[in-house]
Amino acid sequence: MNLYYADGDQQMGPIGKAELQTLIKAKKVNAKTLVWQDGMESWQELGVFVRSQRQKRERPSQAAVSGAQAVCSECRRVFAEEEMIRFNDARVCAACKPVFVQKVKEGVSVAGALDYAGFWTRFGAVVIDGFIIWIFNMVLFVPLGIIMPTSTDDPFAALSFMPLIMLLQYAIPAVYDTWFVGKYGATPGKMACKIKVVVADGTPVSYSRALGRHFAKWLSSLIMGIGFLMAAFDDERRTLHDRICETRVVRK
Ligand SMILES: [Zn+2]
Repeated sequence: MNLYYADGDQQMGPIGKAELQTLIKAKKVNAKTLVWQDGMESWQELGVFVRSQRQKRERPSQAAVSGAQAVCSECRRVFAEEEMIRFNDARVCAACKPVFVQKVKEGVSVAGALDYAGFWTRFGAVVIDGFIIWIFNMVLFVPLGIIMPTSTDDPFAALSFMPLIMLLQYAIPAVYDTWFVGKYGATPGKMACKIKVVVADGTPVSYSRALGRHFAKWLSSLIMGIGFLMAAFDDERRTLHDRICETRVVRK
């Protein structure tokens, strides 16, 4: 033991175990005396220090028993692996975790910065896509309406068309979204606004994710489109469907 202790505003030591006991007997130090030894984060009251030393002796961690120890990549001190947090190849002690996480965050934002598209740009893209689908519906449903038997001359024939029309109304936007986002990462509306959909890590969106994202938009449309509005207040400009599908919309 190489212990330092505070005497007034002076740092004394290092002292060993025997010297410490002598000092305690002589009442030169007490439970409130601040002490420090190599490897400690900060100065501690002697009472706290003695208690923690005793705990270490009485309750050696499993890792110490099995010998699984690792070096903290921040403070370079040795800890039991069980007490550490893993980040890829690095291991960090509990005390260093906040600092390390902050560094990782900053490192990532410097390395692979995603340029999130703003709310109004995305809104513009949605309007354009809506217009394209509207035109498509017109082209498809106006002729269909002309050939469709009216309910007055044949109610049953008219009704038989209904499932087809309803199916198309859901299928057209779903296919539009899935195909364009899966193939190009962007619908024509997004292309026009020079934005695209990517996975949170910046990689392209698969067809299945694009399809899932389309249906997740239904949730975003609920309660007056609050799921869409969320993008305006999110630091990564995520809508509800972006959160559900782990996607981001970025500038090209
Ligand atoms: Zn550490």
